[in-house]
Amino acid sequence: MTIDATAHFTGSAPAPSGQAYDPRYDPLVARNPGTGRAYAPSYWVASAGQPPEDDGPVSGDIDVDVAIIGSGSTGMSTALYLAQEHGIAATVLEANQAAWGCSSRSGGQGQNASGRLKRSQWIARWGIDTARKLDAEIRAGFENFRGLTRQIDCEAFDGGHLYLAHRPEKLAGLETEARLMREQFGYATRMMSAEEVRRDYCDERETAGALFEPEGVGIHPLKFTFGLMRKARALGVKVHPASPVQGWTTIDGIHHLRTPGGTVRARRVAVCTGGYTGQALNPLLKNRLMPILSNSVVTRPLTDAELSATNFKSRTFLTDTRTLRFYYRLLEGNRLQIGSRSSVSGADAEDPVHLKLLTDAIARKFPPLAGIRIDYSWWGWVDVSHDMMPRITQPDPGKSIWYAVGYGGNGVSFSTWAGKRLAERVAGKDGGQEVFELPIYRSPLPFPNVLGLVESPAFAPFRRAGQRMLYKWYWFRDEK
Ligand SMILES: Cc1cc2nc3c(=O)[nH]c(=O)nc-3n(C[C@H](O)[C@H](O)[C@H](O)COP(=O)(O)OP(=O)(O)OC[C@H]3O[C@@H](n4cnc5c(N)ncnc54)[C@H](O)[C@@H]3O)c2cc1C
Repeated sequence: MTIDATAHFTGSAPAPSGQAYDPRYDPLVARNPGTGRAYAPSYWVASAGQPPEDDGPVSGDIDVDVAIIGSGSTGMSTALYLAQEHGIAATVLEANQAAWGCSSRSGGQGQNASGRLKRSQWIARWGIDTARKLDAEIRAGFENFRGLTRQIDCEAFDGGHLYLAHRPEKLAGLETEARLMREQFGYATRMMSAEEVRRDYCDERETAGALFEPEGVGIHPLKFTFGLMRKARALGVKVHPASPVQGWTTIDGIHHLRTPGGTVRARRVAVCTGGYTGQALNPLLKNRLMPILSNSVVTRPLTDAELSATNFKSRTFLTDTRTLRFYYRLLEGNRLQIGSRSSVSGADAEDPVHLKLLTDAIARKFPPLAGIRIDYSWWGWVDVSHDMMPRITQPDPGKSIWYAVGYGGNGVSFSTWAGKRLAERVAGKDGGQEVFELPIYRSPLPFPNVLGLVESPAFAPFRRAGQRMLYKWYWFRDEK
């Protein structure tokens, strides 16, 4: 399979930046993600148009009230809500370019979820009362996201989510989850036969049936994040690209954030660096996140004959029941996007075996598309927390530092709500609100653990070895 690097979208793409894109970048190895690097070669970057105006790299020392580190959808929504609801015009520091991390690389699948756990797992972990409160919170976040996708031009498709059983044995688990969604949480989630999926959505040949949830909005994630940025800047927010925080000291309660162009002295700092959080950024985050690579490709546009042969009737997004699940959908313009997880380290990311995993999946799921030209191939680092749930919190009450990270590949929708809650916390408006007693708000990110029993930073060096073994086991369990 070859990739046609010249087959770019005809619309305008951001101008190339000074530093080349580094496909081998690895947050567990590099100190920070670079300075002003070019975007990953994603379809989103090629089709988003020019980024909004920004405020240029930091040049000279400056004093600010609130600094936000990271300009993805978390950082931009935190800035937006700080300005809109609390009258605070924050300063956003971005190492590379606006929305350079996950927010310009994702699958754009906005789900009614956050973290990697299903609702049945919430109940098992915290009991039904907490699970219901958490559901109300995540659902409010999803509705807020849905509202934003109507305000921002981002190719939003509000068509729900199809969760496909990739083999018949997976149906029972989906049925149990669908019932729980209906009976415990009041959703209109329902099961669909394989025939219904093939007739009404697409002729996905692997599926044995599916869970359909009406909540799900697929978006162009970079257009969406650029939209958040435009809104935030219109309210006075400053966004400085090519301004990585390379050193952080706190003197008399003031944070001195060293960037190549000058030091930003901030009274309060919100960290929104997702899977691109470097180990050296701040001790409060060291070894608290597990960055996991996710690969994605976009094909050339499907012809009318291919659309008919695959019976694509909808742009509803799909995922399957593999542990290392595939996520896919038909995009506006009739290209197919598909992604999954496969490589473990940045050094390994370019190995063609990871691209083959995706092209083989296209051939298996949609045989008429076997061998179709791939126009875009890229990867990015997903922020997975060690207990699979995010945290939006002030990890040390004595320090004016907050973070919103750990969405585990479910951040397209929830990051905007996390930004809203983070803004409340940074503005000091979180006191006395019961919602902040929920597990995602009340404790810091945990360290790595062994089987959920013993938690310690001492396990951090062994995580990648464990991950390699787990990937082999998952593959065996899902395919054999
Ligand atoms: C391939 C892929 C597919 C995905 N698919 C989906 C999906 O379909 N659905 C879903 O819900 N989620 C998905 N996700 C996750 C989702 O994209 C993110 O959760 C979401 O975009 C929120 O990102 P963020 O703003 O928290 O972080 P990011 O968008 O990663 O932004 C963090 C920013 O911080 C900057 N930064 C890091 N360190 C520093 C520093 N020291 N100084 C200054 N800046 C710094 C980085 O340059 C980066 O731009 C996917 C992620 C990937 C990688």
